[in-house]
Amino acid sequence: MFSARKLSGGCRAVRLHHFRSRVVSRTSPNLTFVPACLPPDPVEVEELQRFVSQSKRLFVMTGAGVSTESGIPDYRSEGVGLYARTDRRPIQHAEFVRSASARQRYWARNFVGWPQFSSHQPNAAHLVLRDWEKLGKLHWLVTQNVDALHAKAGSQRMTELHGCTHRVFCLGCGDQTLRSELQEHFEALNPTWKAEALGVAPDGDVFLTDEQVCTFQVPACRKCGGILKPDVTFFGDTVSREKVNFVHQCLAESDSMLVAGSSMQVYSGYRFALAAREKQLPIAILNIGPTRLDHFASLKLHSRCGELLPLIDAH
Ligand SMILES: [Zn+2]
Repeated sequence: MFSARKLSGGCRAVRLHHFRSRVVSRTSPNLTFVPACLPPDPVEVEELQRFVSQSKRLFVMTGAGVSTESGIPDYRSEGVGLYARTDRRPIQHAEFVRSASARQRYWARNFVGWPQFSSHQPNAAHLVLRDWEKLGKLHWLVTQNVDALHAKAGSQRMTELHGCTHRVFCLGCGDQTLRSELQEHFEALNPTWKAEALGVAPDGDVFLTDEQVCTFQVPACRKCGGILKPDVTFFGDTVSREKVNFVHQCLAESDSMLVAGSSMQVYSGYRFALAAREKQLPIAILNIGPTRLDHFASLKLHSRCGELLPLIDAH
């Protein structure tokens, strides 16, 4: 049986109750940000079915590719990713901590993007992984995404490796609050401030002019007056040692690894694939486009996650 310790582990830290009242969308996927690909090949389906059937304790790692079908763009996909379409780059951790004007710009843009970004709903891939957890097939899920879609789908045996945009914490006292509450605070402080969202990034960022940004009021922590930051690992920051160790332990308890919707370019996730290789675990990759571990995976599939995963029977 799975231990209760893990279910209450600090790495999970998702306020699931916040999402329970939401209705999960089961409508057709939004494919605007999904790279072109062929429908699943029956041979590929069979291979993945065999892989999943042979696993008793599957470790799954997901990336932006599972969220693109919910209408959230990724950073790196050819043609449709944010890097290919725009010159926008995510904020660096040091810049956020050091510069009040960088924080003002970040929060103004995040404030505008929030209504749309927070309304995205899980797709078939998120629901399948939630079901695999219920069936006892999935031992642990690690996501590199910060969009809360796995939590919205109901996954619980899960670590959000890079945090979650739906939470905010204070750099001064560590107080943690909900992002939705901060939105109300922003609205109260900026009653006449208006700006349009022109395309939302994977972290909820949108583009605004300097003129729009400079009048935006950013609140401080209500408890200590400290700096508020989304509970997200920005580029240039590192995942905590405690969280990394916890995920390594989950991986050590697993018998195989499935990577879904990630090119694994970021080391904080890639290190777990290296650890899986060292333990000689079978590794399957489901991703449109090349990944950093193609050369040592036992199986590489090029389909859409939301199209292929529902075809697999995990009983
Ligand atoms: Zn504080």
